[in-house]
Amino acid sequence: MRVLVVEDDALLGDAIQAGLKQKGFVADWVRDGAAADLALETGTHAAVVLDIGLPRRSGLEVLARLRGRKDPVPVLILTARDTVEDRIAGLDAGADDYLVKPFDLGELAARLRALTRRAGGSAAAAIAVGALSLDPATHEVTWRGEAMALSRKEFSLLHAFMLNPGKVMTRGELEDKLYGWGEEIESNAMEVHLHHLRKKIFPGVVRTLRGVGYVMPRDLA
Ligand code: CA
Repeated sequence: MRVLVVEDDALLGDAIQAGLKQKGFVADWVRDGAAADLALETGTHAAVVLDIGLPRRSGLEVLARLRGRKDPVPVLILTARDTVEDRIAGLDAGADDYLVKPFDLGELAARLRALTRRAGGSAAAAIAVGALSLDPATHEVTWRGEAMALSRKEFSLLHAFMLNPGKVMTRGELEDKLYGWGEEIESNAMEVHLHHLRKKIFPGVVRTLRGVGYVMPRDLA
């Protein structure tokens, strides 16, 4: 899952980005409100971690513009201790959740999972498509009850398909979900990950529609 981190504090931003990566997220990081606006206009992130006190445009302004564009992406705001007004203003401006600094990175990751799960219309932690199930928290994948060992990218790719069963996605769309800015993407990397998924799970887990894209059938059995 790809998230945008907006934080001007270099140490904290770096720690959040590294921590989320370690927990299996793809995390892009920007350091001011104007850069956040630009990044959010691309619509490639599944959730946003937004600091309120930012240079060039406050987090509250970024949030107001985002919701003004009717963008429903889940937003978790970060506020300083003793700033209950910020939290109230943020929630009223359309934030979905908040954390008070300093916070635990494991809690941040769990809250992001909960937010994206609810945005996807499900309260359950694990997601299932037919006989395939995936737990974003534990990274467990089972196929017909049998546990699968997947690499991090294979897991992310499978997760992207399982969030959109029946939907045809282009290679570009999938790469956007799988890779952050500045990450090297080898031209055939996606096909290699797909090949592994088909080999480990079963060949029909994802279908290739020539010249169109890729789709996970809704009725995997
Ligand atoms: Ca700040």
